[in-house]
Amino acid sequence: MINYIAFSFTKTGTITTQQLHLFEHCFSIKITNLIERRFKDKGIIINAETFTESCIIEIYCSEIELLSPLIAAIESVRFDVMDLLMIEDEKKVVLQEVYNVDLTEEDKYLYLPLTYFSNEDILDLYEQRIETKSILILFNDLISQCNIAYFKNGVLRKEKNANSVILPSFKSKWEIKNNYIIGCYSMGISSLKQLVLCKFISFIFGKSSDSLISREFLNPYHLYLGYTLDLSIKTSFYTLFLIETTQESRKKFLDNPLRLKELLIGLVDFKKQLLAFKTYMFMSDPLLLEINRYYIKSSLEGDINMNLLSNIIDSITYPDLEDFGEMCDVHVEK
Ligand SMILES: [Zn+2]
Repeated sequence: MINYIAFSFTKTGTITTQQLHLFEHCFSIKITNLIERRFKDKGIIINAETFTESCIIEIYCSEIELLSPLIAAIESVRFDVMDLLMIEDEKKVVLQEVYNVDLTEEDKYLYLPLTYFSNEDILDLYEQRIETKSILILFNDLISQCNIAYFKNGVLRKEKNANSVILPSFKSKWEIKNNYIIGCYSMGISSLKQLVLCKFISFIFGKSSDSLISREFLNPYHLYLGYTLDLSIKTSFYTLFLIETTQESRKKFLDNPLRLKELLIGLVDFKKQLLAFKTYMFMSDPLLLEINRYYIKSSLEGDINMNLLSNIIDSITYPDLEDFGEMCDVHVEK
């Protein structure tokens, strides 16, 4: 069975997205060297990713007894003046990497609503400049405030939580941009059920051929492109969506803007959707690692296993959807 450790680092203070990206590269190099020295030939795999506000570094291993020593060793990694040369070298790699990545027009519109709610701009990831003054302090600050979670014997557990408990807060917005209806809703995650519910709503809304987006915005106009994308940003869950339109569907949307609340309350096949969601969730392999992307950055505590998730899905009721819908205050900008 796979064992897994995740370290999550969230931007604080003046650190820029590209400095965070540089950190992700340099921290991965430090861990790789450490594994080479102390855990050689153990088949350990590292995966690292940076988004605009945080980066996550995931370490996979098949031998369970490696988990504790790995966590302890990695937790104590710090940067010092001996690393400055490596940091300057890696800066060139990061700049070359972002220079080579192309963002499509669809991506730009999909991520646009984030700039309204979270001040996260996807274009920050493509900035062609990285300031390395005081970089050691910035990097070591990030490490001291990291969150750690691990997955062992089928259980996901938080090892270190740097977040304080947060209250649920809901924001949403839709608009027409170019030929797309785009939008976003977000919720501060304050319980595991809320996290699962957010995933369920995103599923109903835009993750199957029988989704609300398909039913309301695509099928009647013989359109194809429309979906939701889930993101974990700081302690909140974000669902972004993008729907292609025709002149006719845009006009109908502007004349009679649909609200998520009305769509959810009008859902006639709740039970079918919930069971389809359960199948979809347990299809995603490995589900608990996906759940951890939200869990690790949230203020949530407590063990999570597949049984618990399954029970939570079973406990979702139609009134849960109505309550979720009630919180949606949707503004449509013409
Ligand atoms: Zn990179």
